[in-house]
Amino acid sequence: MVLSILNFFTNLPIFLVLAVLIVFFAIILSIILFKLFCHKNNIFVILCIFSFIVTVSVIVSLLYFNNTVYAKSIINITSEIINFNNDIKSGEAETLSFHLAYSDRISEPSYIDGELGFYVDATNWFYWADGRLLPESKMKEKDRFSEFHFTLYPEELPSILEKNDANYKNIQAIYGKRKLNVRDNTFLDMLYGGNNRVSMDLNMSKVSALGLRTIAHSMVVEKLKIVDKEVTDLASTNAHVRDFVSSIQMLSGYAWRNISKSSIRSYHSYGVAFDLLPETTRGKQVYWDWSRVNNKHWYSIPYSKRWMPPDELIKIFESHGFVWGGKWQFFDTMHFEYRPEIIIYNRLMSDEVLLKKLIKLI
Ligand SMILES: [Zn+2]
Repeated sequence: MVLSILNFFTNLPIFLVLAVLIVFFAIILSIILFKLFCHKNNIFVILCIFSFIVTVSVIVSLLYFNNTVYAKSIINITSEIINFNNDIKSGEAETLSFHLAYSDRISEPSYIDGELGFYVDATNWFYWADGRLLPESKMKEKDRFSEFHFTLYPEELPSILEKNDANYKNIQAIYGKRKLNVRDNTFLDMLYGGNNRVSMDLNMSKVSALGLRTIAHSMVVEKLKIVDKEVTDLASTNAHVRDFVSSIQMLSGYAWRNISKSSIRSYHSYGVAFDLLPETTRGKQVYWDWSRVNNKHWYSIPYSKRWMPPDELIKIFESHGFVWGGKWQFFDTMHFEYRPEIIIYNRLMSDEVLLKKLIKLI
């Protein structure tokens, strides 16, 4: 109940109510000012006063509603701020990681009517919904949707699975489930500002990195420039990195498409994922789905037989919020993706003291 009232007032209708109030206020004030200071009936003067008041009111209102103070005031009135003196409950570290990663867009996590979630851009509430991140309108069909992957992303290379029947069956089961996954895109569409190719195009910019041109979401352009500078500096003293960079022929960024063998929209669709395409992989394995064609035990291919960027380059990307697809079980060693929430989450999970400290600060 509280939430439906909140949604009503925090979405489009509030701006309509505001517009009516501004116009009403401006008419009244214009008449008062006109009566006080103008002694001739001059419609031009009254229109100027009216327009000035409307403009100032609209600017002040927009500044006010854009301010995160607004989001905080809503949370304080209607919900219970997480109290981390108790145990950390499911989803709390993940939602906190989202807030820390996009603090200018995503509010602190909190509970509304006992359900964990956060606001995006102050007014759009998303339930954690066991990792599904759903708006209220999708909560009734919650079970239809799959979870966002908050994959454990270790600092070092994870160990490779052994080649045996049990692991093969396990991977086949994950593969089968993966094909059925349906992720609700509302959250990502809102975070990245578009739900189709045309609207997403508007968020994209051309950028140069590693000596190549690519198209990226404006959210990550500055991050890519910093990565580029650090990699270039390193390449000037490190021959291995220099050779690797010069072997890359293409930096493939924005492309509106689904993830292979799934109906889930790829992060390439949002312009925050980048593939470093080499001149040649020298017979090494790059992508699980290509390796799978000739090798049913593709999950057990050792790192020595996988195409790998230099460790130092991976660390530079990671230090600026990009995860590397080579650490995933369904490996994609040419793929980097801007997911600061995953890096932060894994940092928090490996440092309970930091987690509790951060959570208490909020
Ligand atoms: Zn990719």
